[in-house]
Amino acid sequence: MSDSQSGSFRDQNHYDVIIIGSGPAGYTAGIYTSRANLSTLIISGTLPGGQLMTTSEVENYPGFPNGIFGPELMMNMRQQAERFGAVIVDDEVLKVDFKNRPFTITTHAETYTAEATLVCTGASPRKLGIPAEQQFSGRGVSYCATCDGPFFKGENIVVVGGGDTAMEEATFLTKFGKSVRVVHRRDSLRASKILQQKALENPKIEFIWNNVVADIKGNNKISTVLVKDINTGKERTIETGGLFVAIGHEPNTAVFKGQLELDDKGYIVLKHHTKTSVEGVFAAGDVHDHRYRQAVTAAGFGCMAAIDVEKWLSERKHS
Ligand code: NAP
Repeated sequence: MSDSQSGSFRDQNHYDVIIIGSGPAGYTAGIYTSRANLSTLIISGTLPGGQLMTTSEVENYPGFPNGIFGPELMMNMRQQAERFGAVIVDDEVLKVDFKNRPFTITTHAETYTAEATLVCTGASPRKLGIPAEQQFSGRGVSYCATCDGPFFKGENIVVVGGGDTAMEEATFLTKFGKSVRVVHRRDSLRASKILQQKALENPKIEFIWNNVVADIKGNNKISTVLVKDINTGKERTIETGGLFVAIGHEPNTAVFKGQLELDDKGYIVLKHHTKTSVEGVFAAGDVHDHRYRQAVTAAGFGCMAAIDVEKWLSERKHS
């Protein structure tokens, strides 16, 4: 515990470490820092629990031989961090000042200060970028099959993408949809062999290769999408009650622009282990890792960053 935490006059909004984000990286880091007796605040963000809250069964997180539901896994991690004293607030960070120490972090409700900060804000689903997408978001356009799939019972569903997420979502959506069409911009899939095979062998899934979604139409709710062949330019209208966009993710780093060094795609650049370009600010999980992006790797990075934070704080105290 830092000196600032030990006195009876400690500012209740000041922490040894503030963790921004509450996916596997954030919660794991919180378990480690709070267990190391560092006063820890986790600011959970707009989706407490992160991306796994919108996942169904997680089959590859070690320790659960029969799988575990994403929200249950995240709730367990949250409780485990709280068990060691981490304070968790379900709020969103609006502004940070990493130029002066202690660091200042402003949310909708409060302003907090911290000796060290750990950024675990993850990544969000990528958008198609066509004008009608926003208009029909929540009116037939979705970015999460697990969350919204059951709303599309008996509909003709379109999924966009050729990666693991698209294959997983298309397969999952066959439980609800009358039909599922996968629109992919190339003629081969990026997804892992096992997920590809599952989707390709599913009789309810049809693939529309070399096509992109060019427009979305409907009144109150989506009714058709216009798909365009990228080789021939030929367009075709498909009737649909639901469009699931599964084309990857963007890092959640807007709030850190001008404060931390980011790469050309917006991911946080790490300088040495989990250290960012600012001394005392660390990062873990999908916010810097665009290669592995797994719950278990994010949790591992969270653990590494927490150990680095602890070492950094204790070195400062004794220097
Ligand atoms: P991803 O691997 O980046 O795949 C994105 C897909 O969307 C690609 O097929 C890409 O096409 C397509 N795409 C990108 N931008 C597009 C655009 N503007 N318009 C049309 N199509 C576009 O993303 P992901 O599938 O979300 O997977 C992310 C990571 O999580 C991966 O590492 C994946 O292995 C992992 N993951 C694992 C599991 C699992 O193991 N159960 C499940 C889900 C995700 P191109 O192929 O042409 O680039």
